[in-house]
Amino acid sequence: MDVILFGPAGAGKGTQAKFLVDLLGIPQISTGDMMRAERASGSELGARFEGFMSKGNLVPDELVLELMEKRLTQADAKGGAIFDGYPRTLAQAEALDALLAKIGRKIDRVVALDIELPDVVERITGRRVCLDCGQTYHVRYSPPPESGVCVSCEGTRIVQRADDSEQVVRHRYSDYKEKTAPILEHYGQHVVSHVDGCGEFGEVTGRIQAALGAA
Ligand SMILES: [Zn+2]
Repeated sequence: MDVILFGPAGAGKGTQAKFLVDLLGIPQISTGDMMRAERASGSELGARFEGFMSKGNLVPDELVLELMEKRLTQADAKGGAIFDGYPRTLAQAEALDALLAKIGRKIDRVVALDIELPDVVERITGRRVCLDCGQTYHVRYSPPPESGVCVSCEGTRIVQRADDSEQVVRHRYSDYKEKTAPILEHYGQHVVSHVDGCGEFGEVTGRIQAALGAA
């Protein structure tokens, strides 16, 4: 089964993707991770990525697809994959479809984790992080100790990251909506499942399983 998982920052997409990996026994494919691994492998293809990434340039779609093809035909991905954060544009979606068709596959399901802007704002702006050990807190759901001392490392630098401001959250959310809409339209209602991303982790997981027919 080949599945695309969409969701704005704050929808819990990362943790749900990990759960799906275990449930379906297929790997999660993130282009960022793939490119980093290819660079580290020292391959010829990796060296070509290096040329773009070291200058901070975007890697061209053709190159990403070449890597995607290599990845999708590896043993663990023969039964399908969970695409995370890709495709980002309609052109990438069409190219991915063509690549999958070439190996006799197609996107079976697109899961869009839906969450309203006020919920995203609450989840993200409430985050606090320990600068010393990375322990995360949430002012409402798992508040940092009043003493200001981190429970994991006893450090005292628990802060709100600049990226977790309301302004940044709002901007990212509208950017996500704008970029995702044409891709959802491309796959259409027979393939796209909208899943309510609000609520406890397990509840959301249950809804995703139902959408995949794996419940
Ligand atoms: Zn800490």
